[in-house]
Formats: sequence, structure tokens, C-alpha cells
Amino acid sequence: MSDCLFCKIVAGEIPSNKVYEDEVCFAFYDIDPQAPTHFLVIPKAHIGSAAEVDADNSTVVAHIFEVIAKVCKELGLESYRIVSNIGEQAGQSVHHLHFHVLSGRDMTWPPG
Ligand code: AMP
Ligand code: ZN
Repeated sequence: MSDCLFCKIVAGEIPSNKVYEDEVCFAFYDIDPQAPTHFLVIPKAHIGSAAEVDADNSTVVAHIFEVIAKVCKELGLESYRIVSNIGEQAGQSVHHLHFHVLSGRDMTWPPG
């Protein structure tokens, strides 16, 4: 999508601090970190949110979870939280599917 911030990051039109990239997904550090380690993992193809995951694109989500496990091992992260906000009430501000990976501090439950 031409007016999507994260599509522009995937295309290299907006700079990012890359953590990982392959043909399916892209990971980069969040510009406003909420934990000592905070990066985002996104599909390269535009999906609006987790509410748009279906039988045609769910293999991308499975792949992203494999990547998160691999990258976290490589970064030495043993405890972390994966978050995906869907819709404005849940706090979604960028309408391109993304998984926050947060680590390095105590987390509270329930989340705010
Ligand atoms: P959400 O609010 O769940 O939609 O998450 C969007 C996240 O994208 C927020 O944590 C922002 O800090 C982050 N973000 C916005 N713009 C950028 C950017 N240019 N580079 C990296 N992270 C960004
Ligand atoms: Zn997009």
C-alpha cells in the first residue's frame, strides 16, 4: 500500500534499524521503545492487522513466529512478550500487521 508507513519501511523509503529480514518478513527496532529490547516483526506483504489473517495468509504468521523464536535466541532473550494490537481501542496506531517483541524488564499482567 503506497500510503502505509510500514510498507515504506519494507521498501527502504523510510529508514529503520533492521534486526532481521528474509523474503517474507522484516524486523526492526521500535522508534519509541517500551522495554530495553523492543522490536517489531512485520510481513513484507501488506496485511491490515491480525483481524485480516485468514487461510490464504496464515502461513506468513506462522513464519513470523518461527523468526521471532530464532531472532530472540540469537539475541540471547530468554523471556519476552509478543503483542499485536488490533483496532484503536487496543492501541493500534499503524495499520499494517506487526508483532511487538518486548524484553529486558519485568512485565505486568493484565497488560494496560
Ligand atoms: P501499534 O501502536 O501497536 O500500532 O504499534 C506501532 C508501533 O510502531 C509503535 O510502537 C511505534 O513506536 C512504532 N513506530 C512508528 N513509526 C516507526 C518508525 N518509523 N520506525 C520504527 N517504529 C515505528
Ligand atoms: Zn503496509
